[in-house]
Amino acid sequence: MIYLDHAAATPVDPRVLKAMEPYFSRDFFNPSSAYLPAKKVAADYQTAKATIAHAIGAKSSDLVITAGATEANNLAFTAATNALYLKTEHDSVRKVAKNHHGVEIAVDKYGRIDLADFRAKLADDIDLVSVSLVNNELGVIQPLAEISGIIREVKFDRLRRGVKTPLYLHSDASQALNLLDINVARLGVDLLTLNAAKIYGPKGVGALYVSHGVRLSPVTFGGGQENGLRSGTENVPGAIGFAKAVELAHEHLNGNRKKYAELKKLLLSELQGYELINKKHTLDNFIVLCYNDIDAERLIYLLEEKEVYVSTGAACAASKGQKSHVLAAIGLSDEQIAGSLRLTLGETNDEGQIHTAAKIINEVVANEYQRLQNG
Ligand code: PLP
Repeated sequence: MIYLDHAAATPVDPRVLKAMEPYFSRDFFNPSSAYLPAKKVAADYQTAKATIAHAIGAKSSDLVITAGATEANNLAFTAATNALYLKTEHDSVRKVAKNHHGVEIAVDKYGRIDLADFRAKLADDIDLVSVSLVNNELGVIQPLAEISGIIREVKFDRLRRGVKTPLYLHSDASQALNLLDINVARLGVDLLTLNAAKIYGPKGVGALYVSHGVRLSPVTFGGGQENGLRSGTENVPGAIGFAKAVELAHEHLNGNRKKYAELKKLLLSELQGYELINKKHTLDNFIVLCYNDIDAERLIYLLEEKEVYVSTGAACAASKGQKSHVLAAIGLSDEQIAGSLRLTLGETNDEGQIHTAAKIINEVVANEYQRLQNG
């Protein structure tokens, strides 16, 4: 099989699995229990949190471990009464934003934030702005430092005018942790969502970085774990696996970028008859292509028969047969959206696979054009 859908899911790295394993069996104890072996587990859990936190330039006390990025995004929005969010955000932001008077910020043709629209919508009652670091359908990297610079200016101006509304910047970095060197101070974010499942860690584990002074409300109520913000027995194996995945991601950051840039170049040079949709400001492992007059959903099934796995966009939207709100936001026509494929490279890919994938995709596309011509 050739798997080209790493933005949807990544396989758990064997080293991650190995690190997690003892915490399912030998070290199964509840970290809140009073006896010594449980205290050791609690200490290991804290060490794991510290590893994750240090990778983004934060302290372990700044992190809330969650059951994935959806939950982290939902928790972040508890800081909001009136929110602004990028039009192209993942549904876990778009849908929760609707409960917080969410107003959309427009994007340009590359999917980057429209800064003029952003400034115009930053009214005095806005208290949370949510802009993902990397979009999950296009791989577009947002200029977060520039955005946080604008927020700083606005906060200063509010202070000067005696406007007391706080203003926080949240970013969903689910897709970015293994390809960008992330530092919360450099980005200027107050809240940052992380996701283990996209970086060769376990599914159902994520984290929210919360900077000092941001007031959140719990999403679950109970035993008071995670500073009372996320009650429930800690997912120790999950956090341990997340920390190992973060460690590996950091070790291979530069190597990964180089590898994906080369594989992407190769794939684009061997594929035929496409239009490249995500042309600028993107992560090296994201390729979004459009084939005129072709139904990408059909292509996916035809490619699946040849064991090449690709996607049309976000896996969840694709499974519901919905039109991509991201591709619509960058101005693609319905026909272009219907003909768009997302290929996301990852650790499972090598040069040989890319040659094979390009050959198979070219053949399948050529057959489709032939079939359409024959009516
Ligand atoms: N945010 C982004 C950008 C994503 O790509 C995903 C994964 O699909 C999520 C949030 C949701 O993550 P999870 O399903 O792990 O909660």
